[in-house]
Amino acid sequence: MSVVGRRSSDVGRKQTKMEGRKPREKCGVFGIYGPGLNVARLTYYGIFALQHRGQESAGIAILDGDKIHVQKGMGLVSEVFGNSDLDKLQGRAAIGHVRYSTTGASQLVNAQPLVFRYAGGMLGLAHNGNITNVHELHQRLTSSGAIFQSTTDSEIIVNLLARYSQASFSMEEAVIRCMQDLEGAYSLVILTEKSLFAVRDAYGFRPLCLGVLNGNYVVASESCALDTIGASFLRDVTPGEIVTINEHGLTSTQGVSCQRRAHCIFEYIYFARPDSNIDGFNVKKVRREMGRRLAQEYPVKVDLVIPVPDSGTSAALGYAEASGISFEEGLMKNRYVGRTFIQPCQEMRDVGVRLKLNPVRELLAGKRIVLIDDSLVRGTTSKKIVGMLRECGAREIHLCLSSPPVAHACYYGIDTSNEKELLAAQMSLEEIRQRITVDGLHYLSLNSLLDIFDGKKDSFCTACYSGDYPIALESAEIDRTKKLEF
Ligand code: SF4
Repeated sequence: MSVVGRRSSDVGRKQTKMEGRKPREKCGVFGIYGPGLNVARLTYYGIFALQHRGQESAGIAILDGDKIHVQKGMGLVSEVFGNSDLDKLQGRAAIGHVRYSTTGASQLVNAQPLVFRYAGGMLGLAHNGNITNVHELHQRLTSSGAIFQSTTDSEIIVNLLARYSQASFSMEEAVIRCMQDLEGAYSLVILTEKSLFAVRDAYGFRPLCLGVLNGNYVVASESCALDTIGASFLRDVTPGEIVTINEHGLTSTQGVSCQRRAHCIFEYIYFARPDSNIDGFNVKKVRREMGRRLAQEYPVKVDLVIPVPDSGTSAALGYAEASGISFEEGLMKNRYVGRTFIQPCQEMRDVGVRLKLNPVRELLAGKRIVLIDDSLVRGTTSKKIVGMLRECGAREIHLCLSSPPVAHACYYGIDTSNEKELLAAQMSLEEIRQRITVDGLHYLSLNSLLDIFDGKKDSFCTACYSGDYPIALESAEIDRTKKLEF
């Protein structure tokens, strides 16, 4: 999907509340069963490697004897844990979590792992995903006397597990019953007094993989966390599978099954780390191929291919390779701008983007450019970047996105925002081109994107592009302001 046109000023349509930020992954999970290992430090490094999946809170729960201790806090992994904290956390198994929360829920009470004491013992849980029948389950549980401490769907899972395991089911049977109740996306790590469980929903929305470190099993949202601690990748946890790890080793059970697979394709486009392998595909290789395909779909006569770092870099390399046009790092990224930097005041609003990105004037003056980014959600940042490139004298700017237009909200664990704030849901391609003030605009087609996953193209969720939701949603939950929370 592309459009080329003359540059013009903003089309002047009514501005919606667009903040210009990228959609955010809600969480990353990690687990290790390793008697004799320093599981607290390994979990710390594991969630550190998964920091890109959530920056608002971090936590580690550790099994020591028959007790589960937990430490968690708001902030980055490095802000929540110091050396002395990790020294205090001793045990034989641990789970960890990093979280990005949606509006109104960024509170310590919602940080994970959630750890509960119940009649059957202690239970810790960390969750990546979003349960789509949360209202129905919440109603069912509260009407039978359940009280909730947090506002997360994850607490509903803990509640179900505790109930089923008290009703004379083994924990594995309780997990199966719980999976039968749950609809939506969930990759879970669960810690009990005896075992570590890794659980993935029947569609396989969110990634989860299994590795081994000196004979001890490790699970993580992404393989980059296994690499970080020196573990070898064994395989992905399969959709609907329950992996149980304890002193007897590892067993696998198919908890639930369904015909359809729905791996989140946005993981490959933006969320996952490029060095991760997910469900058989290396993220960086996929991104590079997206760039090659962009060059085929949108061949344009320009002088330079420039990425928006870092998310557009792999695709820009692919575009340059396929087109023969020079790749240049025309925008430099300040890698030290963290979550906590002081936001510029209104008079200094342009500083926001400039703090993160600075164009290399000497490279850009008088040049025709194809600018490569991964996606365009609200468009505010892209417009500012284009403005900076023009100030540096860029003569012609074409914006190429390595994904199709994001026109629908996500209900499976990604904060893609309200559909009213999605540019592609509100405007035509030509209107978007004018708003961003580029000379040409092109989105990678969905067919081309899916063709990259040769032989597996039916295994993906593409709902935010196509509107084809793998799981039907309760009508009450279509309101994004409710965020599927209760
Ligand atoms: S709707 Fe989009 S972001 Fe959400 S799971 Fe599907 S592909 Fe991923």
